[in-house]
Amino acid sequence: MRWVRFDAGDGPRIGRLEDDVVVPVAAERIQDVIAGRGTEPEGSKLPVTEVRLLAPVTPSKVLAVGQNYLDHVREQGIEVPGMPVLFAKFPTSVIGPGEEIRWTAGLTEQVDYEAELAVIIGRRATRVGVATAMEHVFGYTGANDVSARDLQFGDGQWTRGKGLDRFLPLGPVIVEARELSDPRDVTIRCHVNGELVQDASTREMVFSVAEIIAFASEAITLEPGDVLLTGTPKGVGYFREPQLFLSPGDIVEVEIGDFGVLSNPVGEPYPRAAAAVATGALARGGR
Ligand code: MG
Repeated sequence: MRWVRFDAGDGPRIGRLEDDVVVPVAAERIQDVIAGRGTEPEGSKLPVTEVRLLAPVTPSKVLAVGQNYLDHVREQGIEVPGMPVLFAKFPTSVIGPGEEIRWTAGLTEQVDYEAELAVIIGRRATRVGVATAMEHVFGYTGANDVSARDLQFGDGQWTRGKGLDRFLPLGPVIVEARELSDPRDVTIRCHVNGELVQDASTREMVFSVAEIIAFASEAITLEPGDVLLTGTPKGVGYFREPQLFLSPGDIVEVEIGDFGVLSNPVGEPYPRAAAAVATGALARGGR
């Protein structure tokens, strides 16, 4: 089964995607569907081309793994990590298909793309073992782990570099786990302005989905609807020669397996608030 969150002009709704048709259901959030509630059809079917698709889930948290593809580790010239490199993004980072990636003017000059397979948690996971971890997966969607490299590498930790508003396009659909026979055999592609910049398979993951869930849930409880980003393969802009960073007017397209294309334009920066420039450590050039 495939699920979408959409707006046909009367606010966000949940629907089942059957070929090119959206079958609206009673559920208000994908978490209802995950819990088995509100899956009965409600209202008229709609061609998917006539609705606006939204981020398919509104998570309570987003955990992500860095350096989880062998070729991406190699392009950085670093060692393969001995354990998953875990970091967080925020619900405020999430945007849907077609929505603009934007940031505050002057905040970053190095905005990069990362096409990733995203896992949607189905059952609460606290201290689950690798053997049973996959029982906690509801499904999968596409993600772009947009990253501000100058902040990521300059701040000393990744909160701003990874966690900026609007830096997590998700979608376009959730594919239920039972429909994806093997999450270790899914293609990952990214195009920037039509040019293929990432082209890989989840086969190259260092840590599997099950291992990431087991590792993360030892430390942090995963709730239904939470999102887990599983890492990006090689080809990100920072490590290209010459480097490639996103700027207003660009279009980034992430394509995971046959999930459809997650396409996001890059918008103009937001004007900076005067107070942020004029006060405190920022004005003195400190951190
Ligand atoms: Mg990433």
